[in-house]
Amino acid sequence: MNKINRKLWKYHGGLHLEEHKSISTGQQSALLPLPKRLTIPMQQHIGEAAHPIVDVGDKVLKGEMIAEASGKVSAPIHAPTSGTIVEIAALPVPHPSELNVLTIVLESDGQDQWCERYPIENYRHASSEQLRERIHDAGIVGLGGAGFPSYIKLNPGQHFAIETLILNGAECEPYITCDDQLMRERPEAILNGARIMRHALHAKRCIIAIEDNKPDAFSALNNALSQSGQNDIELVMVPTLYPTGGERQLIKVLTGKEPPSQGRTLDIGIICHNVATAAAVADAIIDGTPLISRIVTITGEAISTPQNIIAPVGAPIEELLDFAGRESGVNTQLIMGGPMMGVSLSNTNLPIVKTSNCFLLQPAEPTKPESPCIRCGECARVCPAELLPQQLYWHSRAKEFEKVQEYNLFDCIECGCCSWVCPSNIPLVHYYRFAKTEVWAQEREKEGANIARRRHEFRLERQEKVEREKAERMRKKKAMLKDKEGAKDDTAKKAAIQAAMDRAKAKREANQVDSTISASDSQPKSEL
Ligand code: SF4
Ligand code: SF4
Repeated sequence: MNKINRKLWKYHGGLHLEEHKSISTGQQSALLPLPKRLTIPMQQHIGEAAHPIVDVGDKVLKGEMIAEASGKVSAPIHAPTSGTIVEIAALPVPHPSELNVLTIVLESDGQDQWCERYPIENYRHASSEQLRERIHDAGIVGLGGAGFPSYIKLNPGQHFAIETLILNGAECEPYITCDDQLMRERPEAILNGARIMRHALHAKRCIIAIEDNKPDAFSALNNALSQSGQNDIELVMVPTLYPTGGERQLIKVLTGKEPPSQGRTLDIGIICHNVATAAAVADAIIDGTPLISRIVTITGEAISTPQNIIAPVGAPIEELLDFAGRESGVNTQLIMGGPMMGVSLSNTNLPIVKTSNCFLLQPAEPTKPESPCIRCGECARVCPAELLPQQLYWHSRAKEFEKVQEYNLFDCIECGCCSWVCPSNIPLVHYYRFAKTEVWAQEREKEGANIARRRHEFRLERQEKVEREKAERMRKKKAMLKDKEGAKDDTAKKAAIQAAMDRAKAKREANQVDSTISASDSQPKSEL
C-alpha cells in the first residue's frame, strides 16, 4: 500500500457529525436517461457570465462551445448533447435568490452526437500555457462547490513557486458522496489529472487527501497508483472531522501551515483543487472532452434509492429526484449541497449546473424558534477558523460592519459549526452572510462613489486646463498685438521724423536758391 505516514496536524474546533453517507454509496453511479430539454445557465461559475455564441434555431453537436468566456474570470459553456437551440432567455437558476439568469435552452435530438475533439497526445510535452488554455477552453471550474475557473488557479504567476499541489478528496459534509464515488470509479482519471496539474504548476509534490471514512476510495486510488508504476503522488488518509474539506483546514492538517488571514494559499506555496476537478482536467487534456456532465448525489430521507447519478449540465433537478425515487405524499424540503453548508431551494424545476454536487431531499421540519444568546461560548469552541462567532453575531445584528471586519468576518468559511451547536438555535451563518453581502454592497457603493469623485475631479482638472490654455492664448495674442502696434508706432515715428527732416532740407535748399537769385538781380544791366 502506498499510504504515506505523514505527520498530521490538528486545527481548532470542528465537529464529529453523523455521516449518512453509506445510504448513497451502495451501487455504481447511474447514467441519467438523456433529458429532452436542457436549460443551461450562462452563470455557473464565479466571475463574469459566459456570452452566448449561438442563436435560436442553431443545430449544435455534443461538446460544441455554445457560450464563450467574457472577461478574465469567466468560463465557456458547451452543449451537453446534440440538438437544437430553442430558446435564449432569462430563466431561474438554482440559487436561494431565485434570480433569473441568461440561459440557453437546448432540445436534444436524441443522437448524442459528439463534435470533433482534439486531445493533447502527451501532456508532458505541452507547456503550462498550452495546458491552461485547454483547461480554460474546456470550461473547467472548481467542482468542489466554489466554481472558480480552474485555469486561474493553475497560474500562480512567476512570483510564486508552488511547493505542493493538494487534491482535496476529504468530502467531509454529511450525506454527500459524489467525490467518494468518483474516486472509487475513476481513480486513473484523478491520478492523471493530478499529474497534468502538477506539470502545469511545476509543483514539487502532489498529495491526495482522503478522510478515513472512505477506505474503498483510498484502495481504488492506491491500486491505480501501483498499476501506473509511478510513485509520484502521496495518498494521505486524514481523520474524519467536519470541516476538514475546507481548504485552510486541510492545509493545516497536512502541512501544519496556515495561509495568512484573508491571504491566499499560494502565499505559502500551496494550491488546492478538488478531486473531481482533477478528473475533469484529465478528460479535457487526454480526451479533448469539455466539462458537460458531472456526478451528483441525490439523497435524503425522502428519497427511496439514494444514489449518485451522472447527469448532463442543464438536466432538470426534478428528473434526477424522480430517477432516484422521490417519496410521494411527503411534505419535503430540498437542500442544494449538504445539511451544513447547503442552501434551501423552493423549486425543483431548476437545472443542475457545473457546481451541483448534491441535492438532499428531507421531510420538512418546523424551524426551531430562536432565543437570546446565553453567552455559553460553544460557538467559539467549535469554530475551525478560530473566530469569535458570538461577537460576529452581535455586530452583524447591530449592522456594525466595521466591527465585524475587525473580528475577521471574511475568514469565516460559513461551515455552520457554530449554528449547529448553538443552544439558542440562532441561525448564526445567516447573520454572517447578511453582513458579508452588506459589506460587499458598501464597498461597491464606495467604489462607485470613488469612480464618480475621480470623474468629477478629472472634469474639473480638464476645465481648469482649458481655462489655463485659453488665458495663455489670450496673453500671447495680446503680446503679439502689442508688439505689432509698437512696431507700427516706430515706423510712423521714423516716417514723421524723416518727413520733418526732408521738409527742413527742402526749405534750406529753397532759401539758398532765393539768395542766389537775389544776388544776381543786384548786378548792373550794362554787363549783359
Ligand atoms: S453558541 Fe449561541 S448562545 Fe452560545 S455564545 Fe454562541 S451564539 Fe450565544
Ligand atoms: S460558520 Fe464561520 S464563525 Fe461559524 S464556526 Fe464556521 S467559520 Fe466559525
